[in-house]
Amino acid sequence: MKKYDFIIAGGGMAGLSLAYYLSLSSLRDRSILILDKETKHRNDRTWCFWEDQEGPFESILFRKWDTVEFFGTTFNGMLDMGAYQYKMLRGIDFYTFMKNHLAQFPSIEFRQVTVNRVKDTPQGGFVIADDEPYIADYVFDSTHLLKLNRPENHNLWQHFKGWTITAEKPCFDVDKPCMMDFRVDQQGDCRFLYVLPFDDRTALVEYTIFNDRLLSDEQYENALLGYIDRFIDTGSYTVQETEFGIIPMSDEPTNERPGKHVIRIGTAGGYTKPSTGYTFQRTQRYLREIVQNLAANGKPKRHKPWLRRVFKRFLDSVLLNVLQHRRHPADDVFTRLYQRNPPAQIFRFLDEDTTFAEDLKIMTTVPLGAFTIAAFDVIRKRIFRV
Ligand SMILES: Cc1cc2nc3c(=O)[nH]c(=O)nc-3n(C[C@H](O)[C@H](O)[C@H](O)COP(=O)(O)OP(=O)(O)OC[C@H]3O[C@@H](n4cnc5c(N)ncnc54)[C@H](O)[C@@H]3O)c2cc1C
Repeated sequence: MKKYDFIIAGGGMAGLSLAYYLSLSSLRDRSILILDKETKHRNDRTWCFWEDQEGPFESILFRKWDTVEFFGTTFNGMLDMGAYQYKMLRGIDFYTFMKNHLAQFPSIEFRQVTVNRVKDTPQGGFVIADDEPYIADYVFDSTHLLKLNRPENHNLWQHFKGWTITAEKPCFDVDKPCMMDFRVDQQGDCRFLYVLPFDDRTALVEYTIFNDRLLSDEQYENALLGYIDRFIDTGSYTVQETEFGIIPMSDEPTNERPGKHVIRIGTAGGYTKPSTGYTFQRTQRYLREIVQNLAANGKPKRHKPWLRRVFKRFLDSVLLNVLQHRRHPADDVFTRLYQRNPPAQIFRFLDEDTTFAEDLKIMTTVPLGAFTIAAFDVIRKRIFRV
């Protein structure tokens, strides 16, 4: 059996990004096998993220904006994002770009197979896919399914349904994407719409909820219909594309390194920011670091400063606790965050780039009573594991 240097189980966002960073590094000639059950020829998702500089996918961005609109409880308006831009990347453009780029490297192979098992062995990382065995020095696994069911943790979902619509009349301002619009019935949850205009008649309109119960298709669609009828003067419209997604919002610890030769990456590696569901930029950042370390000393490690990580994780848990136990209306929590802090600072905070002092300052702008109760509840859960 051929032994690969690296097997990448799951060639989605994280798997392809990893292969891409490897191909740009001194490890570009190493043998790499990418296994995925899909061909990735569909536009199955759209990634949005903020960035304060040109990123690696600048040339394939579908849109980018210098400012975003916000509709909250006590504040509506455009957010001054400073140096940040809000960027949108379509799944299909990402997959095509990656495939074309990786095709230039003869040492990178693709196989369309279903991964049945990933296992650490003394000889290396071992994979069984469609009954065939494969082995490598390291297996990077993004196919592992997280359980996220421990009662002592907070396990919410970010779930959403979106329509790309084309309107009869010009009704969108292409320079004014709306990042969060809370002018919808909250039903005790955190519910908002976002609207990303592509031109004056076409936009992605997405209904998003943070809670622990999925809705029926009809419920998502009624919310979309109601919002479009109420807030967008379309004349009439047609739905061009539909997107549905579920992203874990959980503070359950994930096992990123289940064995010496197996590393979980992407959602499977716990790369999702628990309190927001944003995963794309964190994955890029973490994978670049893994590749740098692999190239420098052969070890696929990430530097994780313990105290900083524990504190950031604690803040995530406190916000999840507020949401899960409905300790304060979520629309008001997000309004306060964006109204009382420079939005660019909130982006840095969510990217975990702020200092301890900056974090504390931001925390003074949230409803203190609710967050204090939540903080004690998180500590209680941690101590008593209930
Ligand atoms: C619709 C949607 C929209 C999203 N939007 C955003 C966003 O705007 N911003 C953001 O930051 N995050 C967003 N996310 C969250 C996150 O960025 C994406 O889920 C991202 O694709 C996660 O990357 P991944 O590599 O971990 O998983 P995936 O991209 O899902 O890749 C996993 C790959 O593994 C393959 N696979 C799975 N099981 C097997 C198996 N047994 N055998 C073989 N192959 C297998 C799949 O086919 C897939 O290609 C979104 C998620 C969804 C679902």
